[in-house]
Amino acid sequence: METIRFEELQLSDAVLRAVADMGFEAASPIQAQAIPAQLEGHDMIGQAQTGTGKTAAFGIPLLQKIDAENRKLQAIVLLPTRELAIQVAEEIRHLAKFMHGIRVLPVYGGQDIVRQIRALKDGAQVVIGTPGRVMDHMRRKTIRTDQVHTVVLDEADEMLNMGFLEDMETILSQLPQERQTVMFSATMPPAIADIAKKFQNNPVMVRVVKKELTVPEVTQYYYEVKPKNKVEVLCRLMDLYSPKLSVVFCNTKKGVDELVQALQGRGYFAEGLHGDLKQEQRDRVMNGFRNGRTEILVATDVAARGIDVDDVEAVFNYDIPQDDEYYVHRIGRTGRAGRVGKAFSLVVGKEVYKLREIQRYCKTKIIPQAIPSLDDITDIKVEKTLDQVRELLETADLSAMINVVEQKLIEEDYTALDLAAALLKMNMGEDNEDIIDNFEIARSLDELDRFGRNGRRYGREEYGRNGYGRDSRRGRRRSSAEDAAVGYVTGEDMARLFVNIGKNQGITPGDILGAVAGESGIPGRVVGSIDMYDSYTFVDVPRKYSDQVLNAMEHAKIKGKNVRIERANENGGRSGHGFVRRGSRKNR
Ligand code: AMP
Repeated sequence: METIRFEELQLSDAVLRAVADMGFEAASPIQAQAIPAQLEGHDMIGQAQTGTGKTAAFGIPLLQKIDAENRKLQAIVLLPTRELAIQVAEEIRHLAKFMHGIRVLPVYGGQDIVRQIRALKDGAQVVIGTPGRVMDHMRRKTIRTDQVHTVVLDEADEMLNMGFLEDMETILSQLPQERQTVMFSATMPPAIADIAKKFQNNPVMVRVVKKELTVPEVTQYYYEVKPKNKVEVLCRLMDLYSPKLSVVFCNTKKGVDELVQALQGRGYFAEGLHGDLKQEQRDRVMNGFRNGRTEILVATDVAARGIDVDDVEAVFNYDIPQDDEYYVHRIGRTGRAGRVGKAFSLVVGKEVYKLREIQRYCKTKIIPQAIPSLDDITDIKVEKTLDQVRELLETADLSAMINVVEQKLIEEDYTALDLAAALLKMNMGEDNEDIIDNFEIARSLDELDRFGRNGRRYGREEYGRNGYGRDSRRGRRRSSAEDAAVGYVTGEDMARLFVNIGKNQGITPGDILGAVAGESGIPGRVVGSIDMYDSYTFVDVPRKYSDQVLNAMEHAKIKGKNVRIERANENGGRSGHGFVRRGSRKNR
């Protein structure tokens, strides 16, 4: 595994400062290839998915080409959803932190257009938006493209799935001829290849070639967690499995430092290892780990490469690695010298799809697990403490202590039972009951094929009609409080919407779901039943989002077709008073 440092990539000082500030230790494999290709001025097709560092892979070269003195729009990034627009804009803003005068603006459907127009008038050199909205601004001349020299299609295949083909083509055909066109796509369906042919000039193909790797025999688990609970979940797993030595992997140096601090704060013997440490510090940390003084080593991929310790009992992927190969290297840190090792991965949101890719590529099995509850942890801690007590009872001379206890029992009004219970509680340390709701459910990675790549649900079988859910771990219905905790919505809170297209128009439930979630920005998982008929479809959305969906879908197209969406009446039909025209695309 060759490491390319950002310093080797001929980047400006401002960008180098930014990546250092973001804690990136080395370029990810896709960055190592894609950045030089774009800096040389080539059009490019990158085959990479979320989690590989692809945003910076196009964001860095794009920023290097922006003239900050010029307030005019110079680069457009098109992507499929509002969520992605916000994320990508945030990442590019980070990368531009030390470049003065660069403005990056996300524009997406569902957000007040007047506000966007005002922001655009202020001048933005980089616009990051969904195709429908970008096209809208181009028509209104609130986006002018005469000085655009770079366009990026991010998640091109997803834009295609969501019916943005025509819009992408319209936008591309209106940009200046002299420009760089960069495309990222996880898959290459023929329509995407066609766009490349039509709108790119000798594009360079960039993807990470995968080696055949032997996956070590390590039992692998994963947990779906919320970002705010990651430290807590890690600690619970440490408590539950109590590995003598473990390595925890983070993707950035900053991540390592923060986690070490959090773990030390909670009383764990943890130390960090990354590229900013001097050799001397590194030796000190490694010695501590080898002789067991440090039980938890928190490291980046690059720093961990040299670790040669045989009795690492567990590896934790605190962050999901950016490359499949890294995963294999990471878990190979345990299970060495014939020992049994375990690997635990924490996934947040969409990262679960990255993990599915890893599972596929490695031809291995990564098993979903429920996060251990506080009760589980308490049981384990009690068991451990009692084991120690048993050992003491058998080996130590306790006569002096027995005298003290006897004296206390005479002087005060306690029983021996009270005293033992209080001492046990003291020994268990503080508990932290309110930190976590334990309803983060891990889905089997194989099951994810029924979901879209971006976490949208592409069928309605997963949670049954009306979003009623079943807690897969316990085989019982979730209570409504639990539903609220996991973000599912029950039937009475759903509003039924009518959409005037159906099977005969070649539409699938996935298209409807993609459009509803993508245009309105509501999470796909809260969308309920999608009942599709020949020429129309009913879709249930949480009542509180129904206006948002109706507004966002006012001008939406699904698979290039104009659609009309309106409230259905409550007994499942469409509104009694006939269709209300909400305006068509033409008269926007
Ligand atoms: P992306 O594939 O663009 O969605 O990136 C996934 C995450 O990786 C983001 O949080 C990035 O900030 C982060 N990231 C990007 N490049 C690197 C790098 N070279 N080293 C560590 N983290 C990175």
